[in-house]
Amino acid sequence: MENRIIFCSDHITKEITLKEALKYSQSKGALLEVHSAHFKELLAQKDFKSIICIHPHWRNYSLSTDNDTFMIKSLNYLYNLINFIESNGIKYIIIHPEGMPANLARESRYINVLKSYEKISKYIKNKDVRILIENMPPARVYPPSVLPNYFIGEQLDELFPILKIDSKFNFIFDLGHFICGLNVYGNRELKSLKTFGKKLIYVHVHDNNGKINNHEPLKRKKSIDILKIIEKLYHPLYSLEIAPSFENIDKTIRNLKKIMNI
Ligand SMILES: [Zn+2]
Repeated sequence: MENRIIFCSDHITKEITLKEALKYSQSKGALLEVHSAHFKELLAQKDFKSIICIHPHWRNYSLSTDNDTFMIKSLNYLYNLINFIESNGIKYIIIHPEGMPANLARESRYINVLKSYEKISKYIKNKDVRILIENMPPARVYPPSVLPNYFIGEQLDELFPILKIDSKFNFIFDLGHFICGLNVYGNRELKSLKTFGKKLIYVHVHDNNGKINNHEPLKRKKSIDILKIIEKLYHPLYSLEIAPSFENIDKTIRNLKKIMNI
């Protein structure tokens, strides 16, 4: 398998350990993205060869809060992870432009998010790491809850000023989030998607009906067509963030291989 395909550690099968996830991805010739559920095991890990990326959960930190204590805690959490990946040769960390708590108006949160990424940019100045910044799903696809009613980064054009801050900031395109966004914001999102240039290098692959972000395997024509555009324009890495099941993985890989022409 071409090593542009990546598995996500907690999207393979339920209750899998990091060691098992590594073994499985290696057996398929794929790389591994490690999710926060496996961070404890990751810290005890000695061999990081096939780990390409780590993915802290966006609810464990916030770049948008006005709670100074939590902001400092959030940045320190991310800085520690950045140091960890740098010292172990892991290339990427995904950092979402949102977080909890998110109790401010959208405009104020956006200002906080920009300031936070500027701090992160300064922090990584002499470090050999890359930050992947991911588009968010529209908050309105979630039932009423403690979540904010709008997520920074649910519209793609909000990401451009963030990505510009640092040449080591790249765009991770989340297909499932985007499909929900397309449903809410329409074709201008598709237009924006074509203008990321060299910034778009990594894709989270999962499918849905545009209304519920339920991480289905890749199967819909509309979603496959979007990935065909992405493949042609960007030739990215593809990371499978689908509901955990071997069958879902196999189905997604079959469709991905057609798109990648392998
Ligand atoms: Zn994602």
